[in-house]
Amino acid sequence: MARKLDTATREALVERVRFYRELGLTEFYRRPVDESAKASVEVESQAAAVESQYSAEIADPPAASSQSQSKPFMEEAAIPPRKPFPAQPPIGNAVSSSDRVAALNIIREEIGECTRCALHKGRNKLVFADGDPNARLLFVGEGPGADEDAQGLPFVGRAGQLLNNMINAMGLKREEVYICNVVKCRPPGNRTPEPEEANTCTPFLFRQIDVVRPQVIVALGATAATYLLGHRQPLAGLRGRVHAFRGTQLIVTYHPAFLLRDPRQKKEAWADLQIAMKELGLKLPASGR
Ligand code: SF4
Repeated sequence: MARKLDTATREALVERVRFYRELGLTEFYRRPVDESAKASVEVESQAAAVESQYSAEIADPPAASSQSQSKPFMEEAAIPPRKPFPAQPPIGNAVSSSDRVAALNIIREEIGECTRCALHKGRNKLVFADGDPNARLLFVGEGPGADEDAQGLPFVGRAGQLLNNMINAMGLKREEVYICNVVKCRPPGNRTPEPEEANTCTPFLFRQIDVVRPQVIVALGATAATYLLGHRQPLAGLRGRVHAFRGTQLIVTYHPAFLLRDPRQKKEAWADLQIAMKELGLKLPASGR
């Protein structure tokens, strides 16, 4: 007699599949049908029923129905994927050098006294950006802290002083780069922005990047890397190499605030900046060798 999975087991199976998805495991295979193990067949049958339950939730029936039992199937087709990061907007048209200031002003005007996300509630000053609209190098941090919130400028506190030193070590001045953040309003207690807050604010960041069109972007910390690249990954897996991003080169390094807490990582951060310097064609300063 056919053995059916009870509701609790079915739900546990669904949760287990979701769990594997959280771990990044998305491909699942059915075992070949074993004629001598009828019970296993029934379990497989119930698993297929679970898949069907989720297949009904998505609008791609041909892909779901084309799966045969002997072929691997993608659980993406069965379980709606989590969408913490929306698709990145298309890259805007190039803005001529002479129009960049005006284009950035338009973006700032569009943001206005923004109340699009909850972060506006604790804001003193909205922090748009600082630096050269024609910069070849653009830094993206996480969000304003207390000093930035008070002054309306990014990276003006202790972490900002360290960033200035990093920029100077590259042989550049702060005025020669462009500096902005994932969110433009200070998160309470300097907490990490919630996905909803970051996702609401980043379209403006993308537009700023598209106007400036830097040759190299440096993401400062995991939050900046996450929302620029559109997926979450440990910093260790992102550092030390060049990522393609919106027609530019993206390099990931530590946030200066983290380096203040753990100065031992400054050497690695300097190695990341040297990658940026190489991409920019800058000569390493003698003191940095
Ligand atoms: Fe608006 Fe961005 Fe501030 Fe949220 S963080 S209120 S989206 S400017």
